[in-house]
Amino acid sequence: MSLKDRCKQQLKERESAQLYRRRQVLETRQGVEVVLDGRPCLNFSSNDYLGLASHPKVVAALEAGARRWGAGSGAAHLVSGHYAPHHALEEELAEFTGRPRALLFSTGYMANLGVVSALLGRGDTVFEDRLNHASLIDAGILSRARLRRYRHADGKDLRRQLATVEQGEKLVITDGVFSMDGDLAPLPDLHQACRQADAWLMVDDAHGLGVVGETGRGSLEEFGLDGDAVPVLIGTLGKAFGTFGAFVAGGETLIETLIQQARSYVYTTALPPAVAEATRVSLRLLQSESWRREKLRTLIRCFRDGALERNLPLTASTTPIQPLLLGEAEKALRISEQLRRQGFLISAIRPPTVPQGTARLRITFSAQHEEQHIEQLLDALVTAGAAE
Ligand SMILES: *Cc1c(COP(=O)(O)O)cnc(C)c1O
Repeated sequence: MSLKDRCKQQLKERESAQLYRRRQVLETRQGVEVVLDGRPCLNFSSNDYLGLASHPKVVAALEAGARRWGAGSGAAHLVSGHYAPHHALEEELAEFTGRPRALLFSTGYMANLGVVSALLGRGDTVFEDRLNHASLIDAGILSRARLRRYRHADGKDLRRQLATVEQGEKLVITDGVFSMDGDLAPLPDLHQACRQADAWLMVDDAHGLGVVGETGRGSLEEFGLDGDAVPVLIGTLGKAFGTFGAFVAGGETLIETLIQQARSYVYTTALPPAVAEATRVSLRLLQSESWRREKLRTLIRCFRDGALERNLPLTASTTPIQPLLLGEAEKALRISEQLRRQGFLISAIRPPTVPQGTARLRITFSAQHEEQHIEQLLDALVTAGAAE
């Protein structure tokens, strides 16, 4: 069988298992009311939690940044692509996260690949929550360390597995807020487990920073953990920050190691400096406009109360990621399509993104939603057949 025939067969299998993915074309800017494939709909399917992606001040900073610094960076950071706005943003992110240093990466996926490969190698062991983001699992595999996966949010299972490893360095990695479930990792317990086993803890807080914690400093703030407890912190800029890119925050030694050794840092073009300028503004807004986090809390409460009344299959999430567990991929897809016809954009998340039998609607909220949008959503979910 030729390679092409094999691809064709795999595509056919995906299609018949209701796992085929199709893109839809967005014809408006990021926001609550969007036009997708020519049809207007209410967007409950974005990671722009604070509504900063289309914020006039962020957009103006991007425009001004492009006028001043050009459209592209022209080179990798270590060649000639490390601009003043990158450097300033790194200093501001270090301060925001309460760490000595921060280092920008072009995406969160690349940050994770770069960090784990730079820190670990053959003979070491990486321990990961089973529900960690795909980029973290891939990072573990690429590093050539042994990869052990522990049961979701289960410090006991982690301890058991840590105890079986005697040689090499140990790195424990978890999402801060799980991307498809919205629940928080039990960070204090994981921290204790790491301390006892002399392992480093790395937290990818892609969905926590900006959203969780009194001042938006993420899941570490929620649990009162500092840089000693979590030496490696990953943040992404394409979600609550509303722009693009990612960063690693940590100590001097960690950051210098990454600059020398993280291949996805060294061998790639730096983010456009204009994006760094826009992100500096969103970082300021994220701190000064705390009403955005308060608004999210109100919307989440409103949704959960209404969903309970209507017997919708809620999970325990307290974050703006509020999945409804439906089980079979076919059901999730059918309800998602029905919602689409009613004018609601909510993605069906299916295996392999989530485990078999746990297909779901992944509903996310933005500070730009209004309570009336939530009421409309709840009614539409019932009409579409999502209630138990
Ligand atoms: C989205 C996400 C990433 C990837 O970040 P990008 O900047 O989109 O590449 C990494 N980790 C987690 C937990 C994420 O949710």
